[in-house]
Amino acid sequence: MPVRVDSEGKLASMRSRGQGQASARQEALQAVRGREPVRSGVDYTVTPVSEIFGVNVFNRHVMRTLLPKNVYKALVRCLDHGEQLDPAMADIVANAMKDWALARGATHFTHWFHPMSEATAEKHDSFLVSGGHEGGAILEFSGKLLIQGEPDASSFPSGGIRSTFEARGYTGWDPTSPAFLMESTNGKTLCIPTVFCSYSGHALDKKTPLLRSLDALNRSAVRLLHTLGNKAVKRVISTVGPEQEYFLIDEAFYLARPDIINCGRALFGARPPKGQEMEDHYWGSIKERVLAFMMDAESELYKLGVPVKTRHNEVAPAQFEVAPVFEQSNIACDHNLLLMEVFRKTAQKHGLRCLFHEKPFSGVNGSGKHNNWSMADDEGNNLLEPGSTPLENTQFLVLLTAVCRAVNKHAGLLRAGIAHAGNDHRLGANEAPPAIMSIYLGDQLTAVVDALIAGQKEMKSAHGKVNLKFGVSTLPDLPRDDSDRNRTSPFAFTGNKFEFRALGSSQSIAFPNTLLNTMVAESIDYMTDALEDLVKGGMEINAAAEKLVRETLKENQRILFNGDNYSAEWHDEAARRGLPNLHNTVEALPEIVKDDAKELLVKYGVLSEDELVGRYNVFVAQFCKTVNIEWLLTKSIARTMILPAALEYQSRVASTIVQTKSALTGINLSVEENMLRDLTEKISELLLALERLEQPMNNAGNGNGGHGHGDSESYVMAKFYQDEVIPAMQAVRDAADELEVLVDDSIWPLPKFREMLYIY
Ligand code: ADP
Ligand code: MG
Repeated sequence: MPVRVDSEGKLASMRSRGQGQASARQEALQAVRGREPVRSGVDYTVTPVSEIFGVNVFNRHVMRTLLPKNVYKALVRCLDHGEQLDPAMADIVANAMKDWALARGATHFTHWFHPMSEATAEKHDSFLVSGGHEGGAILEFSGKLLIQGEPDASSFPSGGIRSTFEARGYTGWDPTSPAFLMESTNGKTLCIPTVFCSYSGHALDKKTPLLRSLDALNRSAVRLLHTLGNKAVKRVISTVGPEQEYFLIDEAFYLARPDIINCGRALFGARPPKGQEMEDHYWGSIKERVLAFMMDAESELYKLGVPVKTRHNEVAPAQFEVAPVFEQSNIACDHNLLLMEVFRKTAQKHGLRCLFHEKPFSGVNGSGKHNNWSMADDEGNNLLEPGSTPLENTQFLVLLTAVCRAVNKHAGLLRAGIAHAGNDHRLGANEAPPAIMSIYLGDQLTAVVDALIAGQKEMKSAHGKVNLKFGVSTLPDLPRDDSDRNRTSPFAFTGNKFEFRALGSSQSIAFPNTLLNTMVAESIDYMTDALEDLVKGGMEINAAAEKLVRETLKENQRILFNGDNYSAEWHDEAARRGLPNLHNTVEALPEIVKDDAKELLVKYGVLSEDELVGRYNVFVAQFCKTVNIEWLLTKSIARTMILPAALEYQSRVASTIVQTKSALTGINLSVEENMLRDLTEKISELLLALERLEQPMNNAGNGNGGHGHGDSESYVMAKFYQDEVIPAMQAVRDAADELEVLVDDSIWPLPKFREMLYIY
C-alpha cells in the first residue's frame, strides 16, 4: 500500500497490516523527502580561501610571529633537518601555543594520537589549573604538558606488548606535525599530534614506526645521492597524496540499517536493478545536497590546513572521491585521518552519513585509497621525476630500480600491510587491483627498462633516438597520460610517482607507508653498497650505476607487468613467475612475522621484534572481532527482521489461497500454490542457513572473538572465521536477498539498495 503524506509531512496512511505503525524503512523514505542542502558557515565572498586556509593551525607563520627568534630557529631545524628540540625551549613553545589557542576561544587541549586501530584517540584537559586565590581562573600549559602525556594504555590494543601490570603509556609531542584547533558546536580544542608508546618504550601507535621509517629512508637516500655525486642534498622525505573514496547515504536510511550502523556495511541487500552499468555517475554533475556537504567539509579542512584539491562523483552510485595536494608522508597521514573525521562529522550535519568501508554495498564498486608516493629532497625536487640533467637521470633510474627491487623482494609483506577484513571484499574483485603485487611502468619506461636490460646503449623512442649511457644522457619526457592508463595495476608508475592502489578506504595510510619507506630504504642501501664496491674495484661511478641498474632490474623483472591485472591469464602468469598471491587477510597476515620482514624492520629500527609480533597479534584479533560482529548481526537481523517479514507474507499468501478455495469451490490454484511453495522453500533455505551459521560458532567454543590478544590460538580462530563463518554468513545472505525480491515490498523492513544508493 503506497504511503501518502499530509500537509504536516506526517504519514497519512500506515502499513496495510493496520497496526498504525510505519516501519523504520517507510519512515526513512519519508524523512528523506524533506531534506534541503545545508549552508556552511563560511562565505568565500567575505572570507576568501587564502584567508581561512590554516587559521586553525599553529603553523610556521604563526610560530615565526609568536616565538623568540632562537626558539623559532631551533624548531625549524627540528622540522627541516630532523634535529632534536632542546626541552628548555618547550616551555616557551607551550606558552605561545596556549596564548594562541586561548585567543581563538579554545578551552581544552589534548594529545591527539593514533593507536593501533583505524581511529584517532583524544582525551581532553582544560587549561585550568586552579580556581585561583581570589576565585579567578588560572590557565596554564607547560612544556612538560606539551611534550608528554600519560594516558592509561590498558584499553588500547597492544598485541600483548604491554604487560597488564604496567598499564601506563605515554604520548610524546611530534613537532613535525603542526598542532591545530578542532572546532565543535560549543567550543574549540587544541589538538597536539603525538606518538604513543608503552612505558618500556614500545610503540603502541601507527605514527611512531612511520616516523622511524622516514628517518631510515632519509639516511639511506641521502647516502645514495652523495655517492652518486649529488653532495648538496641534506635531507630526503617521502611524499604522499592519498586519494580517498567514500559513500554518502541519507542518515534516515542509515538509522534503519543496523548492519551499516554497526559494521559500516550492508550485510544484506539484493543487487539494485540499476547498478553502475549505465556509467552515468562517474564524474557526473554533483547533486546540490552533496556539493553543499563537500564544500562545507572542505571549508573546515581549509581551516585545518588540509590542502584538499579534487572532488568528484565516483563509479558506483552514491560514491565520491576527494584528493588532497601531496605532503610529507606523516603529515599526509595525519591529514587523511583528519579528513575522514571532518567528513564523518560534516555529513551528519547535512543529514547524511559518510561510509568509509571498503564494500558497503555488494554488487557495486567498493572504495579504496590510492596512495600516491614519491621521494623529495630538501629543495623540494621530486626524486622520481625523470630528470633533465644526466645526474638527475642517473639518480632517477637508480631510485626507480630500488623501488622495483623493494616491491619484488617484499611483495608479500606489502600485501599484508593492506590486509584487513573490509579490504578482502574488494581486492581481486574486478574493480580493485588483485591481491598479487606487481608494478606497472607504462610503455615508455618499459621500453627504456627493456633496452637497459638488453645492454643497449641507444634506443628509439617516439621522440627520436635516446642515448642510454649513464652520466651522459637524459631520458625523453615520459608523457603522463600514457602512464596513467592502466587502472588495474596495484602499484603503478604514473609519470613522476608511484600510485599504490590496493589500500582500503577505511585504512590509515600509516602502516603501508611505513613498510614502503623501509623496504625502499633497504633497497637503496643495497644499491649504494654495490656502487661503493664497484667504485672501489676501480669502476667509474656512472658505469657502475649503469651496470647495477641493468643487473638489478633483470633480477627483479618478474614484478614488472603492464597488462590487465584483472585477467585470469595474469593469475596463471604470476603463479609461473612465483609471485605471491595471498587471497585474503588470513593468508596475508603471517607475512608480517616472517624472517624477511623481521630482518627488514628490525634492522632499520622501525619495529622491534616484539613490536612487530604485537602488531601481527592486533591485526589478527581485529580480523576476528570484525567478522564476529558481522556474524552476530547477520544472525540477529535475519532472525528478527527478515524472517518475520517473510513469515508474515507466507501466512498472507497461504490464507489467500485457503480463502479463495473456500469461496470458489473447485477452482484450480496451482500457480498460486507454486508461488507459495517457492516462497516456503526460500524461507526453509534461510532457516537452514541460519542453523548452519549458529552451529560452527558453537563448535568454536567462545564465540565472541574476545579480548584475547591474538596469539597463535587467535590465528586458528581467524582461519576458522575465514573458512567456516564467512561462507555460512554468505549462505544466509543469499537466501535473504532472494526473499527480498519475493516478499511484499511494503513490509520489507530494511531500506533497499535501490533506495539508499539513489535517494539523497
Ligand atoms: P590523477 O591520479 O587523478 O591523475 P594526479 O596524478 O594529479 O591525479 O594526483 C593524484 C594525487 O597524487 C594527488 O593527491 C597528488 O597530490 C598526488 N601527487 C602528485 N605528485 C605527487 C608526489 N610527487 N608525491 C606524492 N603524491 C603526489
Ligand atoms: Mg590517481
